[in-house]
Amino acid sequence: MKAEVKTKSLIEQDKEHLWHAMSRYNEKANPMIGTKGEGAWFTDINGDKYMDGVSGLWCLNLGHGRKEIADAAYEQMMNLSYFPLTLSHIPAIELSAKISELLQGSYTTFFSNSGSEANETAFKIARQYHTQNGNQGKYKFISRYRAYHGSTLGALSATAQANRRVKYDPAVPGFLHVPPPYSYRSLFGGDAQESDLLAADYIEQVINWEGADTVAGVILEPFISGGGVIIPSKEYLKRVAEICKKNDVLLIVDEVVSGFGRTGKMFGFMHSEGVQPDIITMAKGLTSGYLPLGATAVNSKIYEKFKENGVDNHLRHISTYGGHPASCAVALKNIEIIENEGIVERVSQLGQSILGELRDLIELDKVGEVRGAGFLYGIELVEDKATKTPASEGAMGAIIAACKNKGLIIGRNGDTVPGYNNVLIIAPPLSSTEEDLRFVIDTIKSVLYEQS
Ligand code: PMP
Repeated sequence: MKAEVKTKSLIEQDKEHLWHAMSRYNEKANPMIGTKGEGAWFTDINGDKYMDGVSGLWCLNLGHGRKEIADAAYEQMMNLSYFPLTLSHIPAIELSAKISELLQGSYTTFFSNSGSEANETAFKIARQYHTQNGNQGKYKFISRYRAYHGSTLGALSATAQANRRVKYDPAVPGFLHVPPPYSYRSLFGGDAQESDLLAADYIEQVINWEGADTVAGVILEPFISGGGVIIPSKEYLKRVAEICKKNDVLLIVDEVVSGFGRTGKMFGFMHSEGVQPDIITMAKGLTSGYLPLGATAVNSKIYEKFKENGVDNHLRHISTYGGHPASCAVALKNIEIIENEGIVERVSQLGQSILGELRDLIELDKVGEVRGAGFLYGIELVEDKATKTPASEGAMGAIIAACKNKGLIIGRNGDTVPGYNNVLIIAPPLSSTEEDLRFVIDTIKSVLYEQS
């Protein structure tokens, strides 16, 4: 079959049979079909090359084509293709120990396949922990508006982005939402730190109103990623951790995006000194996207309650593929590369200077705020700096299309309340070369200046 004919037939089959995630069906536009990846770049079916400025879905942290990772999967598949975690296997044992070491505490990990499942698992563990700790009434979870915690119904209930929930409600009972530490559009006033601390105190207010004896946990990302890259002051997480401790509420930190170096520390919570979460959930960067894997790590205080011999207190939770041997082998190799290549330090150093360069854009009328940590950036676009009216759908779309025309893929998000999807998202692979990163910065800058 000739190449053009094959492409046409693939597009037809795609439109008829392949249901795309989070995408409107569009009769007129053709899907972008990726065919080959190399480092931070990919080629589509037309032979056009693009720099992936969002690491797939913020997961392709080491870029395409790492032979060592592919070899680890191959060797594991040939050696022990599948083994359940009702029993045990070596890659899962080694990975659970490695995760505990990276978290700098004593943690025990339950493996699943995705970030959503990792969060679902956290909710079940938290509720069961409180029950087995003599506090059966503690079942509610608090998360923040703008947060995204996954697509399955429990995780979606913690997700507080209206558009992602509409048509699927009612959500699972027991999930409450509070304002995010979003000082740019603060509900609380004061400078950034004061506003963030008031947002933290609001959590305590809700715990008091609901009754601490009804609240199981607070779930949050250290930096809200999918809700518009919101970077609170370091004190915010410390304050939330204190509030949780005081009220016997578990602190669940969703590190699905921020884990494994994305923000310039191994985990995002490590930016707030002294904070040691009760539960940490992971996915994406755990394998750099090479194979699916989710993980829910709990501290020894929680695990103790599942350990007593002779008592029927085991976790009633199972996942056929969770902790698949090949996925664990890939995760181990991925972490080995991150450590050997000093990826976290590199992201921390280069991230500072990239953020500095992007911050120059603030001189443009349409740039409201530039936020970021490590290799995670959000540029909030407005129509008017004084009123902070969000940039229009059309303006956002034009910028993303112009970047794509120049060979750069970036994203957008923010609040899914209509009209507030006005933050440009940039999250390149952590292994991007300096040349790649220069291309990202120059392209975004040139597009934003051209369209000003
Ligand atoms: N938590 C966060 C912070 C996420 O960004 C995501 C996915 N974008 C998830 C959880 C859910 O992960 P998954 O898509 O692997 O289920």
